[in-house]
Amino acid sequence: MKDYRVLLYYNYVDIENPEEVTAQHKQLCADIGLMGRILISSEGINGTCSGTIEQTDAYMEAMRQDPHFKDTVFKIDEADEHAFKKLKVKHRPELVTLRLEDDVNPNELTGEYLEPKDFFEQIQREDTILLDARNDYEYELGHFRGAVKPDIKNFRDLPNWVRDNKDILEGKKIITYCTGGIRCEKFSGWLVKEGFENVAQLHGGIATYGKDPEVKGQLWDGQLYVFDERIGVPVNQTEHVVVGKDFYTGEPCERYVNCAHPPCNRKILCSEENEHKYMRSCSHECRTSPENRYVMEHGLTEEEVAERLAVIENEKETANI
Ligand SMILES: [Zn+2]
Repeated sequence: MKDYRVLLYYNYVDIENPEEVTAQHKQLCADIGLMGRILISSEGINGTCSGTIEQTDAYMEAMRQDPHFKDTVFKIDEADEHAFKKLKVKHRPELVTLRLEDDVNPNELTGEYLEPKDFFEQIQREDTILLDARNDYEYELGHFRGAVKPDIKNFRDLPNWVRDNKDILEGKKIITYCTGGIRCEKFSGWLVKEGFENVAQLHGGIATYGKDPEVKGQLWDGQLYVFDERIGVPVNQTEHVVVGKDFYTGEPCERYVNCAHPPCNRKILCSEENEHKYMRSCSHECRTSPENRYVMEHGLTEEEVAERLAVIENEKETANI
């Protein structure tokens, strides 16, 4: 057993005074010594945090004593150290940023809950369509085999995407999944509200699925993107298929860095070699920005930057021939 744990949890529950609850919760976490990121709103709590076994035990016990959060389900990962550097407990208008014009309360309307074994069986059926309810960069590091990623930047574009893709959705059972289940509660609820009759969601999300002793994370490819220092964690216990591709070369890759141009900060999958070659930047504009962090961190002179730019230019030309 390792010395630390990472907790992932959410609870959709009405909170009348979310700002006050946030302040109290922040004090509780600070007193215990937890690190992590916890959001509280009038619709509940969404958190991921790390601490020693004693600290996480104390936190889960305090949650069980709390009238709001007493039935919260925790997904627990063992870890060698803290997965966060800081503690942030914040009040937010929404628990998950779906920006639905017409909000859905999952306690009133949501898709059918599928436990890992039922999910595993149903996603293999011909009459099922599997939708990934996460962001592009999460999907690119890993996803369920055969899953469809709605090609949208914002959930408010979903109605249009659904209309444009009627042919793949009609007459099918729609199953959605996300990291810990919180996004699917709303996403699947929204699909039901839109008039789809056969909608289900992976209960507890990928995090729960990967720990199920029976299905052992099967049919998952790649890694699960997590919002802490670990970035990626394994899911499939029986095989590891890499689906991530190096941003620059397309080679198999599971290593994320952020674009060195701070206002861009785009997540880039790349090898260490390519990180240096391309100065950890996603475009020529980012590479030549005066604010480029890679150039600063490595103390590159103008000549050295020019040399690397020339190498990149050269290769582009060769590739065109
Ligand atoms: Zn960039």
